[in-house]
Amino acid sequence: MKAAYFYGVGDIRIEEVEIPKISEDEILIKVKSCAVCGTDLRISKFGHFKIPQGTKRVLGHEIAGEIVEVGSKVKGYTVGMRVATPPNIGCGTCPACIQGFNQMCPDYEAFGISLDGGFQEYMKIPAYAIKAGNVVKIPDGLSFEEASIAEPLSCCYNSYKALNTVPGDTVLVIGAGPIGALHVMMNKLAGATKVIAADISQDRLDEMKSLGADVVVNSAQTDLAEAVKKETNGAGANVIITACSVPDLQRQALEMAAVHGRINFFGGLPKGKEEVTLNTNLIHYKELIALGTTGSSISDYYKSLQIIASGKVNAKALVSATFSVEDTVKAFEFAAAGKGMKALVVSK
Ligand SMILES: [Zn+2]
Ligand SMILES: [Zn+2]
Repeated sequence: MKAAYFYGVGDIRIEEVEIPKISEDEILIKVKSCAVCGTDLRISKFGHFKIPQGTKRVLGHEIAGEIVEVGSKVKGYTVGMRVATPPNIGCGTCPACIQGFNQMCPDYEAFGISLDGGFQEYMKIPAYAIKAGNVVKIPDGLSFEEASIAEPLSCCYNSYKALNTVPGDTVLVIGAGPIGALHVMMNKLAGATKVIAADISQDRLDEMKSLGADVVVNSAQTDLAEAVKKETNGAGANVIITACSVPDLQRQALEMAAVHGRINFFGGLPKGKEEVTLNTNLIHYKELIALGTTGSSISDYYKSLQIIASGKVNAKALVSATFSVEDTVKAFEFAAAGKGMKALVVSK
């Protein structure tokens, strides 16, 4: 089979390797679709602390596929079953795991990071991932391509739960990449009265309009704070999501928030730039809630799959280009160019 191995910064090689062998308590899937995530791009550029130097690793964690082999001791799964695999595998015994926050497990393993992921034709699922609930059946009628969007949607669903968007809210999403687009869709679904999307790329903003944003603001040309004021009759936004890694926007978000506004610092900041000076009097006098969310739990993932299957989030509209495993590097280049939305690595 073909597999795309990450060898180190900027070094991804396509190799012909043996199909992984499974033991009696493991599952083998044929990967049908794996979407390229910003995390994959970051790992290929900067590496990852869970991928020690000298290790080769198949990246890709937004995975959907079909079961082709089931170990004799595995229960509940059969050959031919269509499954998606939430990437973060918790230890199952720590306080975070016991409360259902497997993504917060200090000892997590993850497909595409500490385990070989989806940019290969076949993927082995270890016993502990099966036991931890990381193999989820894809609802009937949902394509593999759409199912592979469940992972990024689940991170936006986790954000939505924390922000609790309700009808009447004006939501500002800063960053019009694929994640920004999913935040727009998720908040529209939650009943937001107006969703404003902001970015400096006009291409992406144009796309955002067709994906459901009510208003788009090109912050390279227009003062974002002024635009938000205008769109909210001076009140500010009720919900603000920073789906980007620009430190100053976190500071600005507090200023653009309405009284009782909720702000999610969704995008992490680059190392060395994570200390931001915030005017905490804005939090105090406007009674703001400033919070963060990261990743998603298996529960968030499961719900996101059902949401996509319901057609209420149009995952298909996010798929901009598909590539074969052999062209994984091209898929990365497409995603890094920031033109379309999601690049998918697919196989028949
Ligand atoms: Zn992802
Ligand atoms: Zn744990």
